[in-house]
Amino acid sequence: MSYSYSTIIVGAGLTGLSTAALFEKKHKDYFLIEKDTEIGGKIKSSDIEGWSIDRGFHVFIKEYPNLSLFPDLKRCELINFEPGFIIIKNQKAYKNINIFKKFFNGLIHNNFPGFSLKDKFLILKLSLVPPNYLPKSNSVLEFLQEYGFSKEFINDFFINFFQGVFLDKKLDVPLSYFLFIFKMFSISDVGIPKGGIKEIISIISKKIPESKIKTGVSINKIYKNKIVTDEGNEYYFKKLICTDSLLEKKFDATIKKNLFGEICYSSTKCFYFIVEPENNPENIIHLLPQSELISSLYFRKRNSKEMLMSVSTLNCETTVEDVEKQILEHFPKINIIKFQKSFEIQKALPKNKKFFNYNNENFCKYNENIFFAGDFLSNPSINGCLESSKSVVRFLS
Ligand SMILES: Cc1cc2nc3c(=O)[nH]c(=O)nc-3n(C[C@H](O)[C@H](O)[C@H](O)COP(=O)(O)OP(=O)(O)OC[C@H]3O[C@@H](n4cnc5c(N)ncnc54)[C@H](O)[C@@H]3O)c2cc1C
Repeated sequence: MSYSYSTIIVGAGLTGLSTAALFEKKHKDYFLIEKDTEIGGKIKSSDIEGWSIDRGFHVFIKEYPNLSLFPDLKRCELINFEPGFIIIKNQKAYKNINIFKKFFNGLIHNNFPGFSLKDKFLILKLSLVPPNYLPKSNSVLEFLQEYGFSKEFINDFFINFFQGVFLDKKLDVPLSYFLFIFKMFSISDVGIPKGGIKEIISIISKKIPESKIKTGVSINKIYKNKIVTDEGNEYYFKKLICTDSLLEKKFDATIKKNLFGEICYSSTKCFYFIVEPENNPENIIHLLPQSELISSLYFRKRNSKEMLMSVSTLNCETTVEDVEKQILEHFPKINIIKFQKSFEIQKALPKNKKFFNYNNENFCKYNENIFFAGDFLSNPSINGCLESSKSVVRFLS
């Protein structure tokens, strides 16, 4: 079979869907193709025994500037996290509340002995850094040292909190991106949508008529003006937008430039357990600086008898037994009722700094009629996907 469209978008992850929804708003002709049978790409949730479980720990930040593209995203109902975190050290739990959001609670609760008064002052100061601030260093860890934070604070808070966000213990992201994400966590409501992170996808996909999306179609080869699917169907295009860097591998030799071959990705594995509530505080991020394995952990209550415990690690080789052992070391009184499910996400977040905010445009004009957009060309976040979609649509309109 042969089809023809003015613009074809490949990939119905957040970037592809938001690009399609923006074209729809502008009454532009487009068609969206996805290889999976389900839309959403990396943003997916599963309903398991009454729990909505995200495939990879995600949080939603209400102050992301690009949510203004789709204002109903801002109205999405969240299970809010308490602003701050609990740090577990030497089997003791210390609660640290974000002073910026809850000033008085922050003053009372922040009792972790490792955080000096100077660290607390500097963290407030860092929240107020203006967007055009130009630090000397471009490495996040060097910058934090130069800024004056103590070694303990950098290790126990910054590395532990942000390794879960960037999926990288070295926090090796552009400093401007780190400062942006830090600010978002400082000022914004942060949480998980009530129906799981997939609600974001559901809100955006409702803006696209069903007739303009086709799932279960995998692209096998990409030529100058047509794509060929695994089944041998041909789709002709005037413009093509690819939303996955790996699609470049499908390009015919006459158009291939090997531009994205060097992009590498971090990976993560997320485990869900059902535990007895005991005294586990829910909806607040727990940091475990003494754990080599666990990058983030949180609890969510379902009823008086059951809590969901989500544990993420940056090492995909980690087994359920490894995680259980670590949990019991840090929470000796915890009663794990059962292991629920784990998700391994290879190729989770793009890592190369070179491609962040690519050429200040957040998308790539590959040739006259082929474009790339996605988190790997802006930054690996919901806000980054929206930024890339916005830029490519503006360019093509
Ligand atoms: C574990 C994890 C946690 C995260 N946590 C957060 C968070 O807390 N907050 C936040 O803001 N962001 C978070 N992110 C980042 C955010 O989820 C991603 O930036 C976003 O989902 C990327 O969307 P995308 O559309 O650019 O790419 P993708 O979701 O990868 O979409 C690309 C799509 O292209 C399709 N495709 C690929 N090849 C083909 C082909 N040959 N034919 C047809 N279709 C094809 C794929 O199937 C996929 O659906 C997290 C990401 C992960 C993985």
